[in-house]
Amino acid sequence: MLISVVIPCFNEAESLPVFMQRILPVMQKNGCPYELLFVDDGSQDETLSILKQMSMDHENIYYLSFSRNFGKEAALLAGLTNAKGDYVAVMDADLQDPPELLEQMYAILQQGNYDCVAARRSNRKNEPVMRSWFANMFYKCINRISDEKIEEGARDYRMMKRKMVDALLAMQEYNRFSKGMFSWVGFETYWLSYENAERLKGKTKWSFWKLFQYGMDGIMSFSQTPLSIASWFGIFMTGISVLSLLFIIIRKLLFGDPVAGWASTVCIIVFIGGLQLFCLGIIGQYIAKIYLETKRRPHYIITETNRNEAVIIK
Ligand code: UDP
Ligand code: MG
Repeated sequence: MLISVVIPCFNEAESLPVFMQRILPVMQKNGCPYELLFVDDGSQDETLSILKQMSMDHENIYYLSFSRNFGKEAALLAGLTNAKGDYVAVMDADLQDPPELLEQMYAILQQGNYDCVAARRSNRKNEPVMRSWFANMFYKCINRISDEKIEEGARDYRMMKRKMVDALLAMQEYNRFSKGMFSWVGFETYWLSYENAERLKGKTKWSFWKLFQYGMDGIMSFSQTPLSIASWFGIFMTGISVLSLLFIIIRKLLFGDPVAGWASTVCIIVFIGGLQLFCLGIIGQYIAKIYLETKRRPHYIITETNRNEAVIIK
């Protein structure tokens, strides 16, 4: 039985030494064979040289280094592809995912009733209010319009059995939205709640705008509902136009036809024009995704690694 831990790192030079101090005792205490698989996602700081040094100082430490920053989703994919474990965990390097939880996760998987143990933050302490509010809206929205249930406060931090990892790897889409994919593949998941921890060093790589776009990507990857918005608007507008037609005909019959109302006409034209552009925009977003999918570009390119037979390009 081998445990692999996949850790995506983007400019985490400051966190890595402390991360090692925290995770090594956990893995050693557990006693089970393990490997730590770090994915350097095109970091510009000392991350790669620290990883190299760490892999020389300790056994069972592997690194995969990307040719540029491909994003966390690509890093996760590279890690999962190259992990050999029967159990595979994914976690962040900034110690927001407490390594101590791995022990509990392992114990729960061992009991055999679950295929996956995932961590969920029980609070959003220390987070900007606006961000929490948008996050809440996002979860409400995506859970209403997509079939996959996405747990609120769910992190990517989890430990999975091999069969779940294989299922995730079988999903070949270019736009990878992990939170949705974990839920899409199914499997029995146990949710571990824990208190939110603050990022140890450095700052988050997610600006508000990046998070917003990520959320939108997630919705579009797992729901077709936005596409039907155009149809609903269309039906609604048709209903309104029938009503106003009736109104105009009756008014003409009763009061004749005084020339007035150009202002309201212009408003209506602008309003409908706006709606049409909005709906076209939504369709355009989906087409853009289809365009990216059809190009079949690789998700990542590895330039340096100490792992034999690593899948270099995927
Ligand atoms: N990360 C990555 N590539 C990126 C951005 C982030 O590999 O382009 C890694 C980062 O090093 C960290 C994890 O993904 O280990 C989570 O990133 P971060 O802590 O910035 O996100 P947050 O915890 O704020 O959601
Ligand atoms: Mg973090």
